[in-house]
Amino acid sequence: MASAGIVNIRRDVDDKFYRYRMPLLTTKIEGKGNGIKTVIPNMSDVARALSRPPTYTTKFFGCELGAQTSFDERNDRYIVNGAHDANRLRELLDIFIDKFVLCKACKNPETELVILKVGRSEDIIRDCKACGERTGVDMRHKLTTFIVKNPPVKSKKSKKGGAGGGAADGVGGNGVSPVHNGGEHAEGEGTPDGAESDDELSRRIKAEAAELNDDAALAKEDWSADTSPEAVRARQALEAGVASLVLGGADDDASDEDVNSPYSQLGRWIGENKDDDTKAFSIAVYKKAGELGIEKKHKTVFVVVQALFDADIVAQIPKYTALLAKMVTSEKHQKALLGGVERLVGISHPEMIANAGVPKILMALYQADVLDEEVITQWGTHVSKKYVDKDTSKRVRKASEPFLKWLEEADDDEEDE
Ligand SMILES: [Zn+2]
Repeated sequence: MASAGIVNIRRDVDDKFYRYRMPLLTTKIEGKGNGIKTVIPNMSDVARALSRPPTYTTKFFGCELGAQTSFDERNDRYIVNGAHDANRLRELLDIFIDKFVLCKACKNPETELVILKVGRSEDIIRDCKACGERTGVDMRHKLTTFIVKNPPVKSKKSKKGGAGGGAADGVGGNGVSPVHNGGEHAEGEGTPDGAESDDELSRRIKAEAAELNDDAALAKEDWSADTSPEAVRARQALEAGVASLVLGGADDDASDEDVNSPYSQLGRWIGENKDDDTKAFSIAVYKKAGELGIEKKHKTVFVVVQALFDADIVAQIPKYTALLAKMVTSEKHQKALLGGVERLVGISHPEMIANAGVPKILMALYQADVLDEEVITQWGTHVSKKYVDKDTSKRVRKASEPFLKWLEEADDDEEDE
């Protein structure tokens, strides 16, 4: 039916002016008998429109059809063994797009796959450039194993920080270059363009990881701020050219809030250096704060919360409990912690208020033992414009009511006993 041409990435969207388009996938049957196979001549064009390596889509077809796949990236050949109907593959591509491309929150295709290490396993996240949400993919799907083994190559300017721009410019190779070495059934090895920059990037990551691993020897209790000059230099180098983190304009003592203030520097540094090894990274953050001379300041907590956490804060808090416990040392610090949460949910991720995220965040912090009941109650019943504007402050407090109520009831129960 559909002739070759251009289609909407979301084929369920019947809108001629839909921005996100891709070539219609085409197929060609080659060989016969046992050797019959389906070649996808425009696989790499389609994949490029999706900002995914063509190996992912091909492998996905293989997973879904229970068929062997092979890729020869140099010659741009992507093959699924057996004879498969083009329409069937297009339907599967729709499923791939739904599972591995579209943001789960806003259904926009401008996402980047990010692999996060969680303990000994990995999580694959769709990082949405359109709405900023990070949504996970179904890790039970077989393709996830392949993705973890052949991680997407990050484009250089895909760093977080939300400094506008960042969003993919529609169709283009942004965010992804071909996966090297096509995986187990590769027909040959390609030397994709951009190999050089990939090498450079991985060298940087390796160097930094080695450094953090040295630090990880202190995984126990070494939170001291002394770092070797090399380590400091390496980190400073990484700091160059980072997007700036906008800090609390509503803060009363914002006088020192220029981009060079130690707080801004720390915020940027965290945004730029975020590492999946949350344990080592916690230590690195604390050391960085120490280098800047602000590891004991309450305002540091305010900055760390905003720089470290995103819409996944509820899941992230347990990973950073030790760091929070180390930094939140007084009532004032607890209030700064709540201030950071207020800004995060009130300004950066207002959807969390609608999604009942605030009580969950408070619960996670309460369970992490970094917030006292009295402080939360006091905070929850007093609107303040120290960290955000008054309206936002009100909205966040309103959203926190279920948790405050729970606290109160838990209290009553104790008294009853
Ligand atoms: Zn989104």
